Amino acid sequence: MLNVKLLDHPLIQHKLTLLRNRETSTAGFRRIAREISLLMAYEVTRDLPLEAIDIETPLEAMRAEHLAGKKLCIVSILRAGNGILDGMLDLVPSARVGHIGLYRDSATLQPVEYYLKLPSDVADRLVILVDPMLATGNSAAAAAARLKQAGVTAMKFVCLLAAPEGIATFTSAHPDVPVFTAAVDRELDSHGYIRPGLGDAGDRFYGTR
Ligand code: URA
Repeated sequence: MLNVKLLDHPLIQHKLTLLRNRETSTAGFRRIAREISLLMAYEVTRDLPLEAIDIETPLEAMRAEHLAGKKLCIVSILRAGNGILDGMLDLVPSARVGHIGLYRDSATLQPVEYYLKLPSDVADRLVILVDPMLATGNSAAAAAARLKQAGVTAMKFVCLLAAPEGIATFTSAHPDVPVFTAAVDRELDSHGYIRPGLGDAGDRFYGTR
């Protein structure tokens, strides 16, 4: 059984359709991606542990639920990961943020790290690794491996769209890291694009192309 969770909330699915539509403007794409990533963060944080603490309301003392366990760190895979960071931070504003940059070496075709900035206590946090497109899965798998090397033991991976090939690569490298996605598309094409997909997520976020 693959460790993949499909986020099929109707609002997520509706907003994903808007993102896929080629007629959606750059400004619209950014706004909708922010909205959808907030909704995805809501689903991804659904199982965070709670503990009861003593508080006083204006009327009386009570025991009330409060988040317990590891604090969060969201790690964005540059550059497109940044497009879904803000929506997640809207929901969990106190989360720390890390960035990892990888490029594909043209000779070896393997991901090479060119940038890494993580909070010093990342090993003690629950890491939510984000990249909108799980295409080949190589960058996401390399990023997750790098985070484990930095001591991270609790991690979830969040994307908007996944290709079956990317899911296979990522989950075989990291069976312990659940993948949260709004859709699993048909295939990866020969240029590495997810089909039917939404195009190049970075270009659509930033209006480059
Ligand atoms: N990266 C993208 O931005 N889009 C794809 O379809 C595949 C990888």
